[in-house]
Amino acid sequence: MATQIPLRCQCGQVTGIAEGVTIKSTNHIVCHCTDCRNFVNRLAPTEALENGLNIIQMSPARISFTQGKEHIQCLQFTRTGLLRWYTECCQSPIGATPPSEAIPSIGLIHSFIDLPSETQSDLFGPVRGHCFVSKSQYSAGGDTFSPKAGIGLWLRMYGIVIAWKLAGDSKRHAFFNHGVPISAPVIVDKH
Ligand SMILES: [Zn+2]
Ligand SMILES: [Zn+2]
Repeated sequence: MATQIPLRCQCGQVTGIAEGVTIKSTNHIVCHCTDCRNFVNRLAPTEALENGLNIIQMSPARISFTQGKEHIQCLQFTRTGLLRWYTECCQSPIGATPPSEAIPSIGLIHSFIDLPSETQSDLFGPVRGHCFVSKSQYSAGGDTFSPKAGIGLWLRMYGIVIAWKLAGDSKRHAFFNHGVPISAPVIVDKH
């Protein structure tokens, strides 16, 4: 079932919707990479990250902002790295996109979706897999963190992005305007 998903920063000045999003057109993943951790820690140090960060990958063409778009800002840890979007009003992390609209994908951070986590799991399905799991987590986590599950997940993640690109979603990217990020990325130090 396709639904309209409410998006909202913590203070409510930035709001938006993700429209026509289904389980099939999203990937519910958990990312364990250090950059996600650095990004979220810098903004929202209360987020518990020991079990990774819940992310919903979707097409950025599904997203539109209804209020407060001017509060959206962008940082990068390296000039070629992902664009990491957040709100300057209340330092809410939004998500990460590749640095070019040519690859139309966003990993939306669960806390920017204005729905309880149980509802999110109903809408986007259970976690499909864990990305960037460390060796020690593999041994501790058993099947949950199995590297085999990872390959299928990566293929699916790339596959749906190619489908979005072919559908013309690069041109309807919520975070780019004719190839230019809606807020100029600022390169920051990781630490
Ligand atoms: Zn805010
Ligand atoms: Zn990550």
